[in-house]
Amino acid sequence: MDLLEKIREAGIIGAGGAGFPTHVKLNCKVEYFIVNGLECEPLLASDKFMMRNYSDEILQATEEIGKAIGAQHVVIGLKEEYEEEIKALKNSILKFNSKVKLHLSRAFYPAGDEQILVYEITGKTIPPGGIPLNVGAVVSNSGTVFNVFEAMHNKSVTYKFVTVIGEVNIPSILKVPIGTTVKECLEKCGGTTIKDYMIIMGGPMMGRKMKKEDIDTRVIKKTDGGIIAIPKDHYLAQKENMTIEHMKNQAKSACIQCHFCTDMCPRNLIGHPLNPHKIMRNIALEQLDNEATKQALICCECGVCELYACPMGLSPKRINVYLKGKLRDRGVKWQNVNNAVSANVFREYRKVPTDRLVARLGLSKYKRQRLQEEEEVKPAEVRIPLRQGIGAEASPIVKVNDVVEQGQLIGMVEEGKMGSNVHASISGVVSEISDSIVIKAI
Ligand code: SF4
Ligand code: SF4
Repeated sequence: MDLLEKIREAGIIGAGGAGFPTHVKLNCKVEYFIVNGLECEPLLASDKFMMRNYSDEILQATEEIGKAIGAQHVVIGLKEEYEEEIKALKNSILKFNSKVKLHLSRAFYPAGDEQILVYEITGKTIPPGGIPLNVGAVVSNSGTVFNVFEAMHNKSVTYKFVTVIGEVNIPSILKVPIGTTVKECLEKCGGTTIKDYMIIMGGPMMGRKMKKEDIDTRVIKKTDGGIIAIPKDHYLAQKENMTIEHMKNQAKSACIQCHFCTDMCPRNLIGHPLNPHKIMRNIALEQLDNEATKQALICCECGVCELYACPMGLSPKRINVYLKGKLRDRGVKWQNVNNAVSANVFREYRKVPTDRLVARLGLSKYKRQRLQEEEEVKPAEVRIPLRQGIGAEASPIVKVNDVVEQGQLIGMVEEGKMGSNVHASISGVVSEISDSIVIKAI
């Protein structure tokens, strides 16, 4: 079985993003293979943990993938402040006499955005609305690459390393079987320190906010990497609760057209024609055919404009998300008029330092938390969604009352279809099949 087939069998999808199937992504020949080890979001530390503790595994899989896709340049991107991780990877490079290079970048946000990382390493801007392949590159998250190492040894994706941080008694990096509830992860961390809290699934900038009431039903999927508990009255929680009408009214009445949102927009800085200040000007008119409004389609939703740049506390990012939905409903797609884009000459000076961002978000006290490492969650039951990322839902290949072993294939995506296989994350008995497969431990 070749590497791509092993990856498909193991059900690997992008561990840090929307969950694009890895065997589809790697089915190409490119100049650059880039491993994203920058852990884009503040506070999250699972990728760092893996690079520190599993550097040999990550390096070997990086080499294999680089060979499989014919890459002349194989690079692992890290932040220069990751001293231990850099040391671990350098030792692995020496040990395996590897040609893999490390690319170190300053701690800025969003350094781990795929398009920003590609620009930093290759000096090429991916066309707006495009993907790294357009400039001869493929990017995989370090967690995905670790899963490829496991697949090389015939192990499927059954668990995730998840950073649990914020208002919890024992902030930790947990080893969590897929399908475990968020509630069990919080309990493993000694519970929350406050009664009224909100959960962010992922990082503070781009993660999905979730009500406390949903922790019983939300389970860990292959794309999850972080759980952050914040007070219910935290600035980020208040922002989340604001209605779109409120945001639109704020934009109409309080946007001073200062341009800061555009000046600091990371996509604008690499040359994309994205001008959030113009979108904010147009939101009053809600003219969806307007060219400036259509720019919302190329917004990556990084949140720099609204959580860092805007002096008026307005919400250009969420306005863009709203407009994207409206435009897609009308079948409007982004079309490039000019592919020859070039980065802003002031880009280097406009990068957002991560520490300053964390302070602006009111999260500095969590940044100082020490994380307990690799505590394993052992749930009595898991609920494994048959759809884990982009693509088709897997079809169950087990029945209720079947006894399954950890790692056993339980849901399959037809060959040739986009999607990912799912495997039992614990040993036990299948107790329910719907859009998820429930396994009770025995
Ligand atoms: S930064 Fe805020 S106030 Fe300034 S143009 Fe952008 S949305 Fe308007
Ligand atoms: S969220 Fe704001 S800063 Fe980020 S890409 Fe979109 S417009 Fe630019």
